[in-house]
Amino acid sequence: MKSTMNTPSITAAPQAQEIRDVERTSCCIVGGGPAGAMLGLLFARRGISVTLLEMHKDFDREFRGDTIHPSTLEVLDQIGLAAPLHEMPHSKISGPTLQFRDGPFRPFDLGRLKTPFPYILMVPQSRFLEFITKEAAKYPGFHLVMRANVRKLVEENGLVRGVQYLGPDGWHELLASLTVGADGRFSQLRQLAGFEPVKTSPPMDVLWFRLPRLPQDPQVPSGFLGGIGRGRLLIVLDRGDYWQSGLVFPKGHYQELHAQGIAAVRQTIAEIEPRLTKHADSLTDWHQLSLLSVESSICTRWHKPGLLLIGDAAHVMSPVGGVGINYAIQDAVVAANILSARLKAGEVTDSDLAQVQRQRERPVRTIQRMQTFMQNNLIAKALAAKGAVRIPWILRALLRIPVVRDLPAKFIAFGPRRVRLHES
Ligand SMILES: Cc1cc2nc3c(=O)[nH]c(=O)nc-3n(C[C@H](O)[C@H](O)[C@H](O)COP(=O)(O)OP(=O)(O)OC[C@H]3O[C@@H](n4cnc5c(N)ncnc54)[C@H](O)[C@@H]3O)c2cc1C
Repeated sequence: MKSTMNTPSITAAPQAQEIRDVERTSCCIVGGGPAGAMLGLLFARRGISVTLLEMHKDFDREFRGDTIHPSTLEVLDQIGLAAPLHEMPHSKISGPTLQFRDGPFRPFDLGRLKTPFPYILMVPQSRFLEFITKEAAKYPGFHLVMRANVRKLVEENGLVRGVQYLGPDGWHELLASLTVGADGRFSQLRQLAGFEPVKTSPPMDVLWFRLPRLPQDPQVPSGFLGGIGRGRLLIVLDRGDYWQSGLVFPKGHYQELHAQGIAAVRQTIAEIEPRLTKHADSLTDWHQLSLLSVESSICTRWHKPGLLLIGDAAHVMSPVGGVGINYAIQDAVVAANILSARLKAGEVTDSDLAQVQRQRERPVRTIQRMQTFMQNNLIAKALAAKGAVRIPWILRALLRIPVVRDLPAKFIAFGPRRVRLHES
């Protein structure tokens, strides 16, 4: 069993004499995930010198979502990158079709939205990050440093002036007018800055695994299968040559599940989605599954002088609705809109950073409230019911009303507010 719940280990900060070199840049971004990579690109194309520090040697990682939503595609389109992105191997999802006792249920359908991209584009996150950083590297001010593990903030009289990071050859210091923490759910910078995340949803557990693609597999135009049964929620995404799958269950039930044996996992999959019975036979060892604790949180403060947190570092998003990447990228777009001119002038103030938080905090809190509602009222209740589950008739009826039925899709695609890149 692989566990993805551990936070990175902390090594001691360096002694002054251990620092090999000191470099300077306008903006230092810590973390080459969707938020950091996108912000690096957006600053670089505005002519700002920016260094992106990523602790891994490449962008390959545990599955953390490969969904690129209409709002991100619209922003990429603004900078001429939507078409080249579509040239990469991809699949498209317009909305899930979930199996319930009283028939299939589509909670949302992006296909009806007024946008050039009425779908979620599925591109492996590693390929997407390579694509974005390759585009950023076309600008002379952009530098990407891999295997750069940031461990310390450089601070002077309460102002963050940069970071110290451990590379394969030792310690380095990078000084910057602005440091951005885009280092994800276990953010080191958040911890170093002393910001406390406040939990916004109770945790759930998810087992992630792959199921093989078989020649007789059904065509799934929505790109998404799943359903609820035996106190578990099954999510299955079409990834072209395999099915990315997740089994969601209430927190604390893993030991019980494990004790029942892997055959019980196979049986659960077969009961919820009988078309995947043969596929489930490929699961023979717990090593093929990863356990993940899913929860969400938000920091009350995302900034201090010289430092801004964005993406999961500022607000950990639960996978409910699959919007975390989108929200991380929207943070980057808003940060680029507000800060580019200020950075170029070398005048970023704490109130500029506060403005980024102000614009992003409400949409994030709104979607987190929605995720918590879905988790508590739909998922948790369905998981508590041991037998087959029906969708409440009122929900089915509501989603047949034209003005109501597209609201969930709009929310998933764009969030409460459409974010556009300001060209200046
Ligand atoms: C199992 C799972 C499934 C998910 N599925 C989806 C989905 O389908 N769709 C969706 O939109 N969202 C999904 N999410 C949420 C989504 O992954 C996150 O919301 C999103 O990745 C946040 O992007 P980010 O750039 O803020 O952080 P991250 O993607 O976490 O990137 C942070 C980066 O910082 C680097 N880093 C960390 N510490 C340091 C350090 N000290 N020094 C240097 N670098 C560092 C990390 O290596 C990483 O590359 C899922 C999350 C999980 C856990």
